[in-house]
Amino acid sequence: SIPSAILAAIAWGARHGILFRGGAAVEKLAEVTLVALDKTGTLTTGELRVERVESRPAGREGEVLVLACAVERWSNHPLARALTRHGKQLGLELPEVSRFESVTGQGVKARVGDRLVWVGRREWIEAELGGGVSAPADWVVGDRPGEVWVWLYREGLWGRILLRDEVRPEAAGLVERLRRAGLRLVVLTGDRRAAAEHLRRELGVDEIRAELKPEEKVAAIREWSESGERVAMVGDGVNDAPSLAAAHVGVAMGARGSDAALEQADVVLMHDRIENFLAAYELSRRARRIIR
Ligand code: ADP
Ligand code: MG
Repeated sequence: SIPSAILAAIAWGARHGILFRGGAAVEKLAEVTLVALDKTGTLTTGELRVERVESRPAGREGEVLVLACAVERWSNHPLARALTRHGKQLGLELPEVSRFESVTGQGVKARVGDRLVWVGRREWIEAELGGGVSAPADWVVGDRPGEVWVWLYREGLWGRILLRDEVRPEAAGLVERLRRAGLRLVVLTGDRRAAAEHLRRELGVDEIRAELKPEEKVAAIREWSESGERVAMVGDGVNDAPSLAAAHVGVAMGARGSDAALEQADVVLMHDRIENFLAAYELSRRARRIIR
């Protein structure tokens, strides 16, 4: 039977937006030594704002935005949700798309009219085009903190859209308190290294691993586990589901988290509040002290 201190922790958590998947989840969380945090949507708000649209040839920015929104409408990536919201606010009329395909950690593509449209990472789009076509050479990306560029290609047209993501105001306090509790903190992200690096300094995390594909996030978690760490992975996206499953404890941000992530999670933080991770961790430690 489940010890009453564990049951009490589960009940208290449920009242405060922390859902433990059974008593084992409480006990496992109490054993954690390393916390791996996903960046987009977890450490940052994921509520990205569209700031600028550019096109080549110039003057076709409207077309770039319409195509991007038409394809991203079928994705639930934080970048896609931001673009979809932006398109709705502008009241854009979007064409139908077919053969939608999503490539985890890279981007999305679909047929619009009689041509294919790619939206996502520049390197991925160029690879998809087989090296024959590359993005405008003078479109260099300054990796400024919090800035994300989404690239678009359709035969004869390049576009790029600048979005800004903000670090959750409560993130710095959370990181500091988790470190004081003796936990090792690592940020995992598919984003570019330079864009992610400022987070390491700003938040004081021990390490940042950038430009990771979802399977590389899983590999990092396995590597730490094999070296004796007990890993809590905190994430929200569809592509976070495998890393949540690979971790000692998977923790999903609940309010906007994907179904796949929620299914793999041992702990769900409702209301999208990252600071609840600390509350959940402290709760699990207290419960375990009582039953020992
Ligand atoms: P993170 O680890 O920051 O959550 P992801 O692994 O989800 O990042 O994605 C890595 C990168 O792939 C993103 O920074 C983005 O450039 C690109 N990407 C992935 N999905 C999409 C999408 N639906 N639309 C545009 N870009 C995408
Ligand atoms: Mg993510």
